[in-house]
Amino acid sequence: MQIIRSVKDLETFLQQYEDINFVPTMGNLHAGHLSLVSEANKYDGITLVSIFVNPLQFAPNEDLDIYPRTEKQDLKELEKINCDVVFCPKPDFAKGVKKLHANADLSKKLCGISRPHFFHGIVSILNHFFQLIKPKNVFFGLKDYQQYLIVKDFLTKSTLKTNIHGVPIVREPDGLAMSSRNNLLTPDQRLIAAKLSVILKDTAHQAKIKNLEYLRVEGIKTLEELNFKVDYFSFCNSSTLEEIDEFEANTLLAIAVNLGGVRLIDNFLIQ
Ligand code: AMP
Repeated sequence: MQIIRSVKDLETFLQQYEDINFVPTMGNLHAGHLSLVSEANKYDGITLVSIFVNPLQFAPNEDLDIYPRTEKQDLKELEKINCDVVFCPKPDFAKGVKKLHANADLSKKLCGISRPHFFHGIVSILNHFFQLIKPKNVFFGLKDYQQYLIVKDFLTKSTLKTNIHGVPIVREPDGLAMSSRNNLLTPDQRLIAAKLSVILKDTAHQAKIKNLEYLRVEGIKTLEELNFKVDYFSFCNSSTLEEIDEFEANTLLAIAVNLGGVRLIDNFLIQ
């Protein structure tokens, strides 16, 4: 497995390859990230993973400084699952990046309400990666469903010939969606965090037969009783993310909460 740290070395390396399957990450890898890599390995060509904590997607009051960084362990995991090349650019990779705007309709909803800078920062850094790598395929987790839709929209409108693949959410045995931020939870918070996916699934299973606003109010109440601060609890159209009042096919139930300062998101597509 090749480990590359400079843009120049990456450009030289990539000259030998035509089909690049790209998995962008911020490191602190877990089985969710690795499932994207396994999926990428199924396609012809080489699998390239990037590890870069993107400062453009963090606001000054957010957790950039404490975001877990575990590069040595990450590289071991990637080697084990036959990743071909890892790009770990230095922090100055984000300097001078062309600032782009994510699709306004998609990026103003859900996570974009409390984090207005967030998706613009993501699209800007991804464009920087994509222009350099020109990937044939890119792989994104459906855990970050809104991010997946926004990147898909961005690629559809760009001149890049890149296909996007959404990969299902990988969960801990107790149901908690895997996330690098789970490592920031105390053992007690970690036990409570597992309830998030239970409430998500229970609510989703009732969506076809009960009033959605009733389910939303009840869901928020239950979460608050468990000390979650609820950012949003939304039944929405899974293509536009518009809030809906009545169940329709492919409704997305998306939730974001804060538990002891740790932001957790999860979602369930109700078919
Ligand atoms: P991050 O390192 O948080 O930027 O995530 C990198 C990629 O891994 C994104 O496409 C995420 O959606 C994906 N990812 C993170 N957690 C999971 C998970 N539990 N299941 C599936 N994909 C995930």
